[in-house]
Order: sequence, then structure tokens, then C-alpha cells
Amino acid sequence: LPTSPEALLKYCRDNKIDYVDVRFTDILGMMHHVTMHIDAMDVDAFTDGIGFDGSSIRGWKAINESDMLAKLDPTSAYVDPFFEHKTLAVIADIYEPARAKGEVPKTYSRDPRQILRRAVEHMKSTGLTDTCYMGPEAEFFVFSDVRYDQEMNQGFYFIDAVDAQWRMGAEESPNLGFKMRKKEGYFPLPPNDQFQDLRAEMTEMLNKMGIPPERHHHEVSAAGQAEINFKLDESLKQADKVQLFKYVVKNVARKNGYSATFMPKPLFGDNGSGMHTHISLWKDGRNLFAGDWYAGLSEMAKYFIGGILHHGPALLAFTNPTTNSFKRLVPGYEAPVSLVYSARNRSASIRIPVAVHGEKARRIEFRTPDPAANPYMAFAAMILAGLDGIQNKIDPGAPADFNLYEATEEQKKKIRSVPANLTKVLDALEQDNAWLKVGGVFDDDFIENYISYKRAEVENIVNMRPHPYEFVLYYDC
Ligand code: GLN
Ligand code: MG
Ligand code: MG
Ligand code: MG
Repeated sequence: LPTSPEALLKYCRDNKIDYVDVRFTDILGMMHHVTMHIDAMDVDAFTDGIGFDGSSIRGWKAINESDMLAKLDPTSAYVDPFFEHKTLAVIADIYEPARAKGEVPKTYSRDPRQILRRAVEHMKSTGLTDTCYMGPEAEFFVFSDVRYDQEMNQGFYFIDAVDAQWRMGAEESPNLGFKMRKKEGYFPLPPNDQFQDLRAEMTEMLNKMGIPPERHHHEVSAAGQAEINFKLDESLKQADKVQLFKYVVKNVARKNGYSATFMPKPLFGDNGSGMHTHISLWKDGRNLFAGDWYAGLSEMAKYFIGGILHHGPALLAFTNPTTNSFKRLVPGYEAPVSLVYSARNRSASIRIPVAVHGEKARRIEFRTPDPAANPYMAFAAMILAGLDGIQNKIDPGAPADFNLYEATEEQKKKIRSVPANLTKVLDALEQDNAWLKVGGVFDDDFIENYISYKRAEVENIVNMRPHPYEFVLYYDC
């Protein structure tokens, strides 16, 4: 697609695309849209922005200050494959309108995409690096039905597509055979794997939309868990791609009569979904993470690791932002439980892939994040934590090259665990956030608003709602 506003609009007119869909992401990571008719569009939408009411978006403006501007980013356009009426989708950056004559609209401090933009700008301004490449692996579950039984207080439960019924805390019912067993989904052939064509349909659509695929496979959980990998890209482009990826996965599933979820831990007793993120820093086309410190990594990578692990407890507020996230980060399900790094260990928060070829492939894999994260905020926070590590030479200590799930008491004493729940992470963010405010990337208003929004979530879930498992434990009391 063309990348200038004029050429994009001409492309729409030439190809009878009647609608331009303006899209942006809220702080919780959900995308929103509003659709413009092509006859009402001109280049102003790109330069001055389109007005909308920001008061109804979760976590944004109050009603008395609700006017906002969405400025379309012409380089982000794609033709939406799900609409019958031809539609061009364009991602927008959010601005606050000028309050007085002559004032220029300010970027909106709670717009996640601009947070990442600012993080990248700040990163470049240090002169240390010009590009941060990210390779996220957002795992997800496919279910054939999701019920919400409000009356019974039983919450959501899932019915998987291989005709087995799952209920939180309950055992599975009889099934039709060739049924995956818990934690054995990785990766038998059909008839056990029922989603080959579904994943292929998603992969093909992603490819057509500019997300070059690498592979897809069934993941370890039995209940239709999947992973589709695509090529690394520069962090801002990659965050846009994560949003597009989730959109395509959910809508292809929906079209086929399924529903896809990126919820980190939908099922008790089986693996959850992570969003492992591969990271490397580059300058002038050279990979700065390649070197001879440990496992083919450089000193710069070492300190980057130091920063991620040191700020880990606060960082998780953005990479693992839900109460459900912490039900994934428990021993025994291939999810990390310790804030350590290792070249061998998949139970470490940071793994260094060593089965890779050449300097270009040297990178770290940060395994803690999950796909409930807002990719813009999560990537921005990862960049800032790593940069802080580099600038302050934060030493990550020795690698943990032993199985952390089976660590001895002596070994355990030296290991910092990931925080046990969202409250602890929000407490950590409250204490440790100066590193997020460098270059004005995050500001106090954003951090305070985010913490109180998330604390209210915890209150609603943990302290106010009867939990399905409480029925198991207490119903007969
Ligand atoms: N699903 C696992 C997690 O929660 C990862 C499994 C894997 O990719 N090996 O992180
Ligand atoms: Mg993977
Ligand atoms: Mg995986
Ligand atoms: Mg991985």
C-alpha cells in the first residue's frame, strides 16, 4: 500500500474502497474503531486529526474534558479482510485538541502507541542504539464455546472443540477419543490436532496483511492451544502487528464458529498462554547483543538483562497486567517463576536461545510476558528497563543453569521469584517507577491512573466476587 495520505486516499478511490476505519488501542490493550466514509475524508485526517469523544474509552478522559483528536498514521494502513464493504483500516495516534488559538495539539499522555513512540525516541536519543527488534510469540486458546453463567456465579467455562467439557475445578467428561491429554498438546498429528486448517487460514491471512509467518503449531495445553510465529520487526511496527495478529486470530476463529482467547490462564491444571518476547538492540545494522560475555551475548546484553530482572516486579505491571496473569506464573507449566536468566533453562524469566546461527540471531527471550499485555506499553517498559540496566551497569549476577522447579533450598535462597499476584506488582510499580519517566515516556498521571484502575480490578475480582472454586470448597459447609 502507498504510505502518503494523498496516495492512500487515491488508492481507496481507484479501488472502490468506500470506508476508512480509524483504529486505536486503549490502555488495557483493546482496539477501538470508528468508520469514516471516503467522501468525508481528506488529508486533514492525517495532518490535523479526526475529533471523537474520549470519555467513553476505559481509563481515558472524564466527560468534562472529553474532546480528542485521532491523527491517522498513513504508514499503518491495511485493507481489512473481514468486511463485505471494502474498508481501509488505519491506525491513529491520539492528541489533545488545542485549547486556545495558536496552541498546537499535544500528544495524549495515555495513548499507548505514543508511549512506545516516546520510548523509541528516548532510546535513540541516548546514542547507544538505533533499533530495538522484538519477536513476540503470543500463544492463544481456541474454544468451540464459551458460556457465562452469571446466575449461578459459576463464571466462564469452556467447551473445547474436541467435544470435551471443561469446567473450572471439575474433571473432564467422556470424549470421542484421540483426545489430547493435559500438557500433551505439543505436538501430535491429527486426529489429535484438530486445528491445522484453522491455524493455516490464520497464517495465510496474516501473510497477506504484511505479517510474514515463520511457523505454526499446536501448543502444549490439550485444549486447542496454538502458536503462530512471525518475523521480528522494529518495536513500534511489531506492536502494531501484535494488535493486527490478535485481530486476525480472533476473527478467523469466529468465522469458523470458534472463539479464540489470549487470556493467560483459562484452564486450571494445564499450560497457560505466554507472549515470550525475543529482544535485540542494533546500531548501524549491527547486532549489539552479539559478543563474548556468556552464550554468545555481549556486555550490553548482560546489563540489559540486569535492568529487566532488577525492575522485574514493577515491569510486570505492564507485561503481565491481569489477576489471571499470575495464575500462569506458577511452577510446572513451562512458565517462568524466577527472575533469573539462563541459556538452558525454560523455567527462567530470561532464556538465551543458543540453537541459533550467526551474530544476527543473538538475542534474549524474555519469557514472563503474556498476551494480555498491551504490546505498546509492554514493549516501551521493556526497552526502558533494559536501557536503565545498560546506563547504570546493573549486574544480573550468575546464570541459573539448573532446573528452577527443582532447585534446592540453598539455591532457592539466592533466587528472586516473580511476584505472586497483581497487587504485589502494583505495589512495586508504585515504589519503582523513575526509570519509566525518563524522556517523559510515562508520566505520573499515567502511572497513578493505571495503578488505581488496576487496583479496582483486583478489588472486584479478589475481594468482591464469589469464585467458582469457593463453591467446590464451601457450598456444602
Ligand atoms: N505456554 C508456556 C508459557 O506459558 C510456554 C510453552 C512454550 O512455548 N514452550 O509460557
Ligand atoms: Mg514458541
Ligand atoms: Mg510456545
Ligand atoms: Mg518461546
